[in-house]
Amino acid sequence: MPESLMDKIVSLCKRRGFIFQGSEIYGGLANTWDYGPYGVELKNNLKKAWWKSNVQERNDILGMDCAILMHSRVWEASGHVHNFFDLKSDCKNCKKRFKSADLKDPSACPECGGQLTDARPFNLMFKTYQGPVEESGNEVYLRPETAQGMFVNFLNILDSRHPKLPFGLAQIGKSFRNEITPGNFTFRTREFEQMEIEYFVNPQDAPQALEAWIQNRFNWYLALGIKNENLRKRQHGHDELAHYAHACMDVEYNFPFGWAELEGIANRADYDLKQHAQYSAKDLQYFDDTRKEKFYPYIIEPSGGVDRAVLAFLVDAYTEEKVNPSTKLRIDGEQSRTIKEDNRIVLKLNRELAPVKAAVLPLLRNRPEIVELAKNISVDLKKSFAAVYDDTGSIGKLYRRQDEVGTLYCVTVDVQTLEDQQVTVRDRDTMQQERISIDRLKEYFIDKLF
Ligand code: ATP
Repeated sequence: MPESLMDKIVSLCKRRGFIFQGSEIYGGLANTWDYGPYGVELKNNLKKAWWKSNVQERNDILGMDCAILMHSRVWEASGHVHNFFDLKSDCKNCKKRFKSADLKDPSACPECGGQLTDARPFNLMFKTYQGPVEESGNEVYLRPETAQGMFVNFLNILDSRHPKLPFGLAQIGKSFRNEITPGNFTFRTREFEQMEIEYFVNPQDAPQALEAWIQNRFNWYLALGIKNENLRKRQHGHDELAHYAHACMDVEYNFPFGWAELEGIANRADYDLKQHAQYSAKDLQYFDDTRKEKFYPYIIEPSGGVDRAVLAFLVDAYTEEKVNPSTKLRIDGEQSRTIKEDNRIVLKLNRELAPVKAAVLPLLRNRPEIVELAKNISVDLKKSFAAVYDDTGSIGKLYRRQDEVGTLYCVTVDVQTLEDQQVTVRDRDTMQQERISIDRLKEYFIDKLF
């Protein structure tokens, strides 16, 4: 059977050090994933791009980083203790557990045909205990969304920064949900990262603000390189809306397993501030000093998943290319070698997301002057952007590896470099090569990258 696209992505992620199975040497802990050296760079680049466009470049959004553990009253007020359930059904025969909403026939097990139990509610929050004694009163939850940290700090933000409506708070951080059916690699896990914005607006401005955020967030994925045909919007039906939401639009990606949510943009109305005001007995209204009136702002919430976005960008960038057999790579040098490249796998990540911008490679590993010069060049480039040095294979192999991790440029140091102080720079996408003098190299890259 041919390998599926998803299998190819999972295999590339392990082979090249993007994402590994969690606790692998112990047989793995199901549905946990560890980001390796390239994975963490990609993930950090994605988070940086989000922060840049939503916090750094805007005057109306402030960043936050709240605690994962919060007072358990927060989750009573938010509705999560009573409403954050999925319905589950268990097979009486094979004992497998299913999310009831995913079942075609609610009475028959889709795996063995056995009889299913009636659908029963299952709270998705992870519960634990704070301190040494495991008793009620010490219970705390791992947050199932980052949003609540921003609502409970609404007053602190008003008092410390005095923002005027409309304004937003933004946060990136881990969330935890005890999902009934995690799966599809990093798409649905029990521990994941979210990037969320809570945008506070005048109630009458909420519909336009929702539309503007939907377009803004949709365009953000396109600007970072997602192909237009792989992205779409999907409006939630009334039966799908979360307990707090007035309206919600999902941005969906065409994953190898089908269209699925990347990000949801919801109008949460004044539900959260009103609930927290009631449960905390604090006044969480906003005072409009031009109109001299107090009210609860509405909240527009663009809420995206970091891990899902990383997976979508990996899938979208994965390319298998037939290299024209006549395409030869000429590495100038003493021996004037000609190197033929095989068909290749390339991750065509855009320049902001690519984990490595330039890899410096010595053409001959057994020539100490070449190796030393290549290492020095890499150290110098690393001061300005993500660069690596690699001498663990022949030049053809090194190119192939760098293509697979999406490295934008390969810099080769050869014998001639020792004479003319020039290196060969190969462009990942065009595979064109240019000779560039070492003293112009950094400037050359800075022009291309920033
Ligand atoms: P789904 O319908 O897929 O369960 P959701 O609608 O419950 O998702 P939200 O509560 O809107 O998700 O969370 C916002 C974002 O957080 C999602 O769009 C997704 O990118 C991410 N996310 C939610 N749950 C998970 C999970 N279990 N694993 C990875 N990412 C998740």
